[in-house]
Amino acid sequence: RGKRAFIAGVADDNGYGWAIAKSLAAAGAEILVGTWVPALNIFETSLRRGKFDESRVLPDGSMLEITKIYPLDAVFDNPEDVPEEIKANKRYAGSSKWTVQEVAESVKQDFGSIDILVHSLANGPEVTKPLLETSRKGYLAAISASSYSYVSLLKHFIPILNPGGSSISLTYIASEKIIPGYGGGMSSAKAALESDTRVLAFEAGRKRRIRVNTISAGPLRSRAAKAIGFIDMMMDYSSANAPLQKELSADEVGNAATFLASPLASAITGAVIYVDNGLNAMGVGV
Ligand code: NAD
Repeated sequence: RGKRAFIAGVADDNGYGWAIAKSLAAAGAEILVGTWVPALNIFETSLRRGKFDESRVLPDGSMLEITKIYPLDAVFDNPEDVPEEIKANKRYAGSSKWTVQEVAESVKQDFGSIDILVHSLANGPEVTKPLLETSRKGYLAAISASSYSYVSLLKHFIPILNPGGSSISLTYIASEKIIPGYGGGMSSAKAALESDTRVLAFEAGRKRRIRVNTISAGPLRSRAAKAIGFIDMMMDYSSANAPLQKELSADEVGNAATFLASPLASAITGAVIYVDNGLNAMGVGV
């Protein structure tokens, strides 16, 4: 049978998660997605009404099919973690079983196992604030949604990730170089995610022969990136300064994820793979 992938962090057709879904589907994988609870309704409605039909088209002319969409909020591990105000929130009350542990249980019940786990989500409520102005609450929220969410996902999915499987997340170069504007502790969150990629590669590799890698992606005008407020400047900077002076397409990141998930990458684990037109290799702007 073909491989089965669970992609956490798809809520429209503009982000990296969507592009990864398309590339994996084009390579023959079955696609399951986890969608942030507050975004679920509009995503499902838009899909149903055909709003994404143009971008669902795969290279062979067929359409991306998502076998099942799971509501997910990756900052909560199990129902005991969910505060009353969230439980009572009407956007949440309409869905059930959306904590990480419950989603993993549902996927197990529905499908038994998966081969590929993708984490394509991040959130930093104070991302527009410089680190020096970031509150403890904002910083910890960024780490919770953008870094620990990955530890938790892998932890809960590892029992149903088939040996030989692959796990991938998305990171950004602000983890290792100064990118003014990527604030609120998001740079710290990406540094944690990259470090965790190495430690998790060791633990998941020894435990279940699972590979763990992260893609350091260049700038893309996604919904999340627009919220940061500097995405156009970053895209201009990249086309002015990167070795490859072209726009980065989300598909290029999708294809790198498919490569990393495939047997072609069978000896690659614990790696940060740059898919950024080479911008990371520059030492000065030109
Ligand atoms: P996106 O908006 O398509 O994806 C982010 C997703 O995270 C959204 O679907 C959102 O609903 C979801 N999300 C937020 N909080 C969540 C939670 N608590 N539980 C579950 N889902 C939640 O934007 P994107 O830019 O494609 O982001 C995907 C990944 O790519 C992120 O890790 C991001 O940091 C990374 N990345 C993006 C860029 C860029 O320029 N866009 C560059 C490098 C890395």
